[in-house]
Amino acid sequence: MKDWIATADRLSPWPQARVVVAGLGTSGFAAADGLLDLGARILVLEDADTPGNAEKAKVLEMLDAEVRLGPGSTASLPADVDLVVTSPGWRPSAPLLAQAALRGIPIWGEVELAWRMSLPDRQVPWLAVTGTNGKTTTVGMLESMLTAAGLRTSAVGNVGRPIVEAVLDEVAYDVLAVELSSFQLHWTNSLALHSAAVLNVAPDHLEWYADSSAWPPGATDPMAAYAADKAAVYSRVTHSCVYNVADPATERMVEEADVTEGARAIGFTLGIPAPSMVGVVDDLIVDRAFLAQRRDSAVELAKLSDVTPYAPHNVANALAAAALARSFGVPPAAVSDGLRRLRIGDHRIQTVAELGGVRYIDDSKATNPHAAEASLGAFEHVVWIAGGQAKGTTFDDLVTRVAPRLRAAVVIGVDRQVIADALARHAPQVPVKVLDSMDHGAMQQAVEWSAAQAMPGDVVLLAPGCASLDMFTDYAARGDAFAAAVADLTG
Ligand code: ADP
Repeated sequence: MKDWIATADRLSPWPQARVVVAGLGTSGFAAADGLLDLGARILVLEDADTPGNAEKAKVLEMLDAEVRLGPGSTASLPADVDLVVTSPGWRPSAPLLAQAALRGIPIWGEVELAWRMSLPDRQVPWLAVTGTNGKTTTVGMLESMLTAAGLRTSAVGNVGRPIVEAVLDEVAYDVLAVELSSFQLHWTNSLALHSAAVLNVAPDHLEWYADSSAWPPGATDPMAAYAADKAAVYSRVTHSCVYNVADPATERMVEEADVTEGARAIGFTLGIPAPSMVGVVDDLIVDRAFLAQRRDSAVELAKLSDVTPYAPHNVANALAAAALARSFGVPPAAVSDGLRRLRIGDHRIQTVAELGGVRYIDDSKATNPHAAEASLGAFEHVVWIAGGQAKGTTFDDLVTRVAPRLRAAVVIGVDRQVIADALARHAPQVPVKVLDSMDHGAMQQAVEWSAAQAMPGDVVLLAPGCASLDMFTDYAARGDAFAAAVADLTG
């Protein structure tokens, strides 16, 4: 083992290091590629021998990496390994990672690697977003604001583009807009971000945290472990720790964080902001944090109508993005320009049709109860299409709070009964249809049944509150199935 790995950076003697890359997904490939660039000796281990992985393996082998593909490849960790770089989805209990931990070999994620790969004298600042919901939307808004300010930037991380790729890019970025998941944060240990936001914390991914080997120090249960990984984003922050005033857990995280001296706590709120907050006054998004006279004045950043699609949770996302942008010195006009220029990704409160006064909205990206609740809260009368994989979460609180809005509900997927039971307990007056079919016809039936229940002025909303992999390849395919079924309504 090499002692220098603990404090390694781009200029370390990488050709001396033997690094195992665990998993050949998007981030694993980027990590291996980046490390080869630095001259490290690379061994990539991946169980799934798919054509896509074989193709990636060929590319890496041409660059002198050793790649082992196929069942059993990740069963044991070879001798003489100095560092393991793991894919974010891997659990700490995976044999390879458990063996690394036992032998005291450092385990990093691709995010940690990317941070270490910046040149020490030219560290590109990162503005990072984490939280249970709204990360991708917020990072998109942030990227758009930074671009509107004339800065060279890229949206990276959990959004899809590996950070390593951006760090080693020939383009000299001024700043990066970074989305980080709890899994990615789990495998970091030295990030010192310019500024970071935790949007919200609600139960999700509790299965990943079921095993106590995945708990960071001090965590006592899966939810605390999940929250602790999110809180890691604030560690060593140098400028602004952005928190959600409506979610006290995020404020506590800032209070407890070990930040760099001088870093500030900045709140965002849908209400009128106190000093050191961004918030809403009438129909304006305003900043009472990044101006000298914040004790008695505020500066306008944007209009609420600049946020599309309009929904309270998207205003919250815009506020968080604005706080991060302002902490980097983005002028007010670029905040509104950025919001106006942005088109939020598909399957996030996307209106797919309006038929007979009923709007059909695809929020397939609402993959946990907290997201579904935000989504349902944006409409007055809703026929709700829900279900899929609940990932160990429950729906009782959500149903209790949204019951008055529900015209009817239809549940699909493997955990349909979890939601049906919550509806029976807390909204017994709401008509509920349980569809047992697990093929794509279920979405068609769900949409047809919903159309029959909806009244003019209502919304038929796909906000599953669950992951999609029981019935679809991903959330996008589920949203597409919904849109196709809606299109079929008109023949
Ligand atoms: P993430 O990247 O965290 O999964 P997205 O921006 O893709 O988040 O949004 C996912 C879904 O979460 C949206 O479709 C919406 O239903 C819900 N959502 C978005 N922002 C918020 C928020 N601030 N609070 C609660 N739910 C939200």
